[in-house]
Amino acid sequence: MLTWLAVALLAGAAVVAIGWGLRRADELGRPRRFPWVTVALLLAMGAGAAVPGVLRASQERRLGGAASVLAGARVAVRCQSFGGAFVDAGPELGYVRWRADGSPEPWTLIKRDQCRHLAAYARSDKRRPTRDQVVAVHVLTHEAMHLSGRLDEAVAECAAVQRDAQTARLLGAGPADAAELAGAYWRNVYPLMPEGYRSGECRAGGAMDERLPDAPWLAPLPP
Ligand SMILES: [Zn+2]
Repeated sequence: MLTWLAVALLAGAAVVAIGWGLRRADELGRPRRFPWVTVALLLAMGAGAAVPGVLRASQERRLGGAASVLAGARVAVRCQSFGGAFVDAGPELGYVRWRADGSPEPWTLIKRDQCRHLAAYARSDKRRPTRDQVVAVHVLTHEAMHLSGRLDEAVAECAAVQRDAQTARLLGAGPADAAELAGAYWRNVYPLMPEGYRSGECRAGGAMDERLPDAPWLAPLPP
């Protein structure tokens, strides 16, 4: 919405400037002054209205790049807009749409708050992520696992806990900080997930253990 406002304001600036160019003299033949104030105001307001959309697009590109590596296919991440968050009442933190044949559409929507936490994490030094940031990084991994074709929630969740460290590294964390983030989710959040998201087979040596080097059960406990 804001982006359309920006387009309208910038178009307005162009219309005013072109209008001056087409009629540089008034009825009496006196030269008209260029409408600097109007054009500058429209340009400034247009640029201001464009900022949130531009920032969101650049974050979506970055998150989409990470999700594509995790999913093993080219996928897109969309961050929920302010308008979308306003009308949204769903409890989930992100979602993927499934086609009738059981394959995922190649994009995921991440809720506004989680995109904010992901942006804060990406900007941070990654040493002490907040719990919200840990969960937001995991949400990105979880949705990427859906995008790789894992429909079942417990399957996607267990594949995600084994890749949260990779996601953190893709967002710029060093190996030790990334492993600690994955361990924090595994110890503090996974056990609290609802029934359908957990499995007794999601453990070292369990049926869902993919024996990845990033498995959170391999991460050393923090001092
Ligand atoms: Zn899910």
